[in-house]
Amino acid sequence: MRFLVSLWSSVSAVLDLTCSARSLTHAGVKSIRIHENGGPEKLVFEDIPVPAPAAGEIRLRVEAAGLNFIDTYKRSGLYAVALPHTLGQEAAGVVTAVGAGVVDFRVGDRVASAAVTGACAEEALAPAAQCVPVPAGVSSQLAAAVMLQGLTAHYLACDTWPLRAGETALVHAAAGGVGLLLVQIARKRGARVLATVGTDEKAVLAREAGAEAVCVYSRENFTEAARAFTGGRGMDVVYDGVGRETFDGSIASLRPRGLLASFGNASGPVPPVAPLLLSQKGSLFLTRPTLAHYVATTAELRARAADLFAWIADGSLCVRIGATFPLARTADAHRALESRATTGKVLLLP
Ligand code: NDP
Repeated sequence: MRFLVSLWSSVSAVLDLTCSARSLTHAGVKSIRIHENGGPEKLVFEDIPVPAPAAGEIRLRVEAAGLNFIDTYKRSGLYAVALPHTLGQEAAGVVTAVGAGVVDFRVGDRVASAAVTGACAEEALAPAAQCVPVPAGVSSQLAAAVMLQGLTAHYLACDTWPLRAGETALVHAAAGGVGLLLVQIARKRGARVLATVGTDEKAVLAREAGAEAVCVYSRENFTEAARAFTGGRGMDVVYDGVGRETFDGSIASLRPRGLLASFGNASGPVPPVAPLLLSQKGSLFLTRPTLAHYVATTAELRARAADLFAWIADGSLCVRIGATFPLARTADAHRALESRATTGKVLLLP
């Protein structure tokens, strides 16, 4: 990994000056944008104007932006966005301006959000209602690292299937950003966790996070591992952010009336499913959740974030920052994430 990072560091950034139509408040800032969908080579490091916050928005000076798989979906076109588009929706930093009606934050406050508009920039906007204050003891890098993936792990373990002590949970890609946090939160709730990972090195991380058993699913059958883990019964819940490659095996790993939380597409989107399949496989439940619906109100967002920050403070939640890249090298960070070379969180630093 270290070798790859230094190799990527030698790749020079593309500079291209283009301005968007939004109103200027001062000179432009560096950003990562796409003008067309495609691979990482479509990411352009360029200046954009700094927009003024609209009513209800804050502007922040980004100190750290989080890279998430969703950024690759927006870049590739799997998730449609209007072009040109400034990448990134997770960041932490310092408030530099507030729009009309914002009462919760003032210039100079440190905030974090998983709903930033164009987090891959030196300055970006976010709805104040979707921001949380960053506690004094938490660095901006740590806050940016835990927002999107941490909130996701929180809602999956606490609400999509509110894990209870002794229940069994299969967590795919357990050494990834969501995965490492999800394993820890599941363990906090007393669940028994079977983790899947792509390599032996990742297996070590999943075990350290609290997984009772780990299946290296690149060479082992995880459905057989799930049956062995549960004495043949099947898992209570499967958390599957891998998508296309694991969907069938995930379904086959569940106990009757268990739940598949299919929450991502790292290997590609899951094809259409016939509801009858769920009947045949044991009256299963299937949900395809997304974060926005689990932080729909400011109160819910802040309650989840408060849990995460409290767990970080008491040492019960460890946030692994696996790699940092300068903003100008975001394309290298995308390549690393998509080639399964990363563990934990990947941060982009303006
Ligand atoms: P990760 O850090 O977990 O990286 C993805 C991991 O998926 C890889 O490291 C790899 O782990 C595994 N993987 C398996 N097959 C592939 C493949 N063909 N290509 C690439 N990776 C593969 O990413 P994130 O934590 O950012 O996201 C994890 C998943 O969660 C994504 O699908 C994402 O879209 C989803 N997500 C969903 C949210 C929601 O609310 N619905 C919110 C946040 C994330 P390994 O090598 O161990 O297999």
